[in-house]
Amino acid sequence: MSPTDRPIVIVGAGHGGTTLAALLRQSGFDRPVVMIGSEPHPPYHRPPLSKKFGGPQVCQPLRPPEFYADNAIELRTATTVTGIDRLDKYVQLSTGDRLAYSSLVLATGSTPRRLWVPGADTPGVLTLRTIENAGALGHALDRRAGLAIVGGGYVGMEVAAVARSRDVPVTIIEREDRVLARVASPELSRRLTDYHRSRGTHINVSAVATAIREREGRVGGVELDDGSLVEADTVLVGVGAVPNDRLAHDAGLACDTGVIVDECGRTSDPSVFAIGDVARRPVHGVDGLVRLESIPNATEQARQVAAVVVGEPPPDAEVPWFWSDQFDLKLKIAGLIAPGSRVVTRPGTKEGSFAIYHVAGDDTVCAVETANSPGDFIAGKKLIAQRSPVSPARLGDPSVSLRDVSRALPVGS
Ligand code: FAD
Repeated sequence: MSPTDRPIVIVGAGHGGTTLAALLRQSGFDRPVVMIGSEPHPPYHRPPLSKKFGGPQVCQPLRPPEFYADNAIELRTATTVTGIDRLDKYVQLSTGDRLAYSSLVLATGSTPRRLWVPGADTPGVLTLRTIENAGALGHALDRRAGLAIVGGGYVGMEVAAVARSRDVPVTIIEREDRVLARVASPELSRRLTDYHRSRGTHINVSAVATAIREREGRVGGVELDDGSLVEADTVLVGVGAVPNDRLAHDAGLACDTGVIVDECGRTSDPSVFAIGDVARRPVHGVDGLVRLESIPNATEQARQVAAVVVGEPPPDAEVPWFWSDQFDLKLKIAGLIAPGSRVVTRPGTKEGSFAIYHVAGDDTVCAVETANSPGDFIAGKKLIAQRSPVSPARLGDPSVSLRDVSRALPVGS
């Protein structure tokens, strides 16, 4: 097979892989594209899994079924790539076949971290990453018995909100002294904790799950390090995710809890790229390399790789952002909180809406966390991208328009 006949092979038929395949075709790329995914389904949206589980809207395909054939994208589902031969540029498939590539893109995502405690395999202990996981969770909650969620991250908080909306008793067990400790500011954690508690969620912070107790062949509860028991017949483990970088690691690509890539998504091998949850990469306005788990992150990296493959100029770097839905709160978060930054809160225009701005030492906005306040989100994201100094006093004053928070403007103008 001549090098030009070899396809670009995308490993992982999730958000990053599918976006890349679509972008390549949109850009006029006319060489073969093969996308290989372990899951039995065509690609689907993951965010609804924690927001709509138990309902018909949980299953949302990323593209209509005919999209792949119509765009000459060869989609192989239920197939796992088990090895990479970088010398001869082949991948080994679980079917026994070998597939040559011209360029290879690893879009293998991440896997929920396991809870290493006695009883962690008891029926009723669940994780949430796939459509099957969401089905099992929805089914378990139909029993309307107790749900214990180990880990107060975004997925856990979203599931708690849905479960409480259905009157399921919910307890969140969080090892740190606040929920969302890794991903949100203390101020946002506090507000969300209050919001969830006011809707009946029990939140135990500084509490470590030490064992899952069994009752009649199913989960009976979660034992905590203070000796107490949280009674529940379903346990959701939401203690983070680990990148699926084993393939890359075994192939000798540079990895550091995630595949290391440059600002074009390129790994230490110029023919191999990595995008999405599995990649550790440079991010606009942030020192060092970071691994982000979000749809906008996977989309941005898919754009970067598509540009390299078709020979277009790289897209502008984007401010990282993320969203989460909890009860009636639409949370949108942009940027990354710099150590030592100060908090400026600003009430939104609608009741209960708010924005938490994070202002770095040089008076530039490094992050904004918003709830039901799209205006603050858009303005905050722009301020982060522009990196121009603001007046924190003006920023915190809702009578000052967000257009007028720049430090350059004299007070009172
Ligand atoms: P994925 O979309 O996970 O796709 C990776 C695919 O690769 C998987 O299908 C996997 O089976 C397959 N694969 C792995 N190894 C192999 C192999 N060797 N061979 C073949 N296939 C392989 N982000 C947001 O921005 N907002 C949200 O509200 C939000 N909610 C979320 C809710 C849940 C429950 C979850 C789990 C995630 C959520 N995310 C959210 C995160 C977002 O879904 C991920 O960041 C995004 O899907 C990452 O895309 P990806 O392509 O890197 O990985």
